[in-house]
Amino acid sequence: DRLKESKVYVRALFDYIPLEDKATPCQEAGLPFKRGDILQVVTQDDPTWWQAKRVGDSNLRAGLVPSKQFQERSLTLCLPPLFPACLPTEDCDCEGYFNGQYIAGLRRSFRLSRKDRQGSSGEGSDPGDPDFMTYEEVTRYQQKPHERPRLVVLIGSLGARINELKQRVIAENPHRFAVAVPHTTRPKKPHEKEGVEYHFVTKQQFDADALNNKFIEHGEYKENQYGTSIEAIRSVQAKNKMCVVDVQPEALKRLRTAEFKPYVIFVKPRVPESRRRRSAATSPGGGDHGRVTDEDLQEMRQSAIQIDQQYGHLVDRVLIKEDSASACAELRGILERLERESFWVPVCWVR
Ligand code: 5GP
Repeated sequence: DRLKESKVYVRALFDYIPLEDKATPCQEAGLPFKRGDILQVVTQDDPTWWQAKRVGDSNLRAGLVPSKQFQERSLTLCLPPLFPACLPTEDCDCEGYFNGQYIAGLRRSFRLSRKDRQGSSGEGSDPGDPDFMTYEEVTRYQQKPHERPRLVVLIGSLGARINELKQRVIAENPHRFAVAVPHTTRPKKPHEKEGVEYHFVTKQQFDADALNNKFIEHGEYKENQYGTSIEAIRSVQAKNKMCVVDVQPEALKRLRTAEFKPYVIFVKPRVPESRRRRSAATSPGGGDHGRVTDEDLQEMRQSAIQIDQQYGHLVDRVLIKEDSASACAELRGILERLERESFWVPVCWVR
């Protein structure tokens, strides 16, 4: 009496450690997982505890994981705070009895602020959901030859230099990969062509476009405006090229749509020992160009941690960049696989 294989797959949006979960009926039967893991949900018969396997695990036995409803309810019960010491702005870590039911702490999930949710396109998030991230239903997706290539989005922590990485990978293969041509209000230089380096527009036009939400991001540089539009991405894809953009992570919300099916790569720099130096004071004046102090390193780490906490659940792949050449080679490899292989995407992107 073999059961039909479950077709329900979810991406976990929180870490789960059964041995620390006092609410589980059986800690030993729990399935530990990390945020980002793909779980195959074998049964959802019990409203509180699902049985699931981790995709890629050689372990064939399913384990217990908190159901979506239970995970959400535990969190919801704690907001407004279940315990006086519990701040509604923190990841909930409390535990105790509530309405006769034991509510475990460590049901840490990453809560989206209301502001974040309003900013999202609404796709993939049920408006009825509480403001918690628990699981996201996913499915395998492979780009078919007639379909437009997926958008590749680079985000980077301090020191990652993602723009340079993007330019380099595109320059190697300009007939397959392309940048979205940005808009600018600065005057065109003699060697530049409209629509190649930039779309040159008036300040008035730029402001109107910004107001109408046409840009995925924009900013000012030396008193001129620069920005990348949604249309610029579309026009690359219309040529059947893979569009690579580098953006501030806040732009992810705008880009996470079925139309673009973004594949998000988080580039984190790693500074090799040979480029480190103890402190800014040890080597006054030249001779140390390109060297990184402990203070710089600390800032870089902090930046990576912050992006990971806030946006890690939207990242498909982390690329550790030690030097530009090897990072570029790795990125090229990822882009090539993206055209050939299947990847997990939210189900709402393909339905
Ligand atoms: P340039 O005017 O020399 O072509 O570009 C100067 C600077 O404008 C770049 O180094 C970059 O900081 C900024 N820039 C260029 N394109 C964009 C864009 O699409 N968005 C934003 N925010 N800045 C850009």
